[in-house]
Amino acid sequence: MKWRGRRQSSNVDDRRGQSGPRQGLGGFNPLLLRPIIKLLFSKTGLFIVGAFLVISLLMGKNPLSLITQFLGGGLPTTESSAPYTPTAEEEELANFSATILANTEDVWNKLLENYREPTLVLFTGSVSSACGSASSAMGPFYCPGDEKLYIDLSFFDDMEKQLNAPGDFAQAYVIAHEVGHHIQKITGISEKVQRMRGQVSDTEYNQYSVRLELQADFLAGVWAHHSQEMTRMMESGDLEEALNAANAIGDDRLQKQSTGRVVPDSFTHGTSAQRMRWFKKGFDTGDLSQGDTFSANPL
Ligand SMILES: [Zn+2]
Repeated sequence: MKWRGRRQSSNVDDRRGQSGPRQGLGGFNPLLLRPIIKLLFSKTGLFIVGAFLVISLLMGKNPLSLITQFLGGGLPTTESSAPYTPTAEEEELANFSATILANTEDVWNKLLENYREPTLVLFTGSVSSACGSASSAMGPFYCPGDEKLYIDLSFFDDMEKQLNAPGDFAQAYVIAHEVGHHIQKITGISEKVQRMRGQVSDTEYNQYSVRLELQADFLAGVWAHHSQEMTRMMESGDLEEALNAANAIGDDRLQKQSTGRVVPDSFTHGTSAQRMRWFKKGFDTGDLSQGDTFSANPL
């Protein structure tokens, strides 16, 4: 993509290096509790506990106080006062994200009357949102309650290394997908789907959320179509990068890749083929009226 030197959005809330959710457990991050418990019951865990016992015997210390000392000093804390110093690579990703966000603003301001621009929150590790607290392991997400997109930029690294979905346009697609959820919020579509919860069976509700996700992919495609008309940012190979990412982060592929981090914002996004098809449809037509995933049959 030819993105450098373009306008960057001012709607970026850079919370990198800041404390995540404060839950009053001293310096201990509660998000780490589950992985630690899991670890303790694994072979490695038993080994670590054994090692602590041996060390405490050798040092003549109480093993519990040694463990507390280790937890207090060795794990990330919820308090942080030092300013965050990103690497050059991280700074590049932050600039890139602010540029793509600005470009989605330009496109959606053109397509929608009175478009309300969302905020992009950059965070590291964990973050508080109106939708609750989240860890970066959940992947990027959009919170309708505060109309903000949340991204830990290390996700882009995971996309490249664990999901085999490299490329700047693949990253732009992820941002545009989350902006797609914002469009669904301000047009009232996501609320309609949310109201179905409890009124229909879980299986049926799941179907609706798949359709909501595929529509966010369609909207990302619509953005790419108009962005290209306005800026000619895309280069050859870019469309393939987005399609490859849509393919790589479909539910069916993800379930096979159980070791990596889980991807965007909800438990269900549709199959790889469906995601690619809807992104492509948005990209080819650029026409918002083509995106009714709710009455499409088959999807
Ligand atoms: Zn989504």
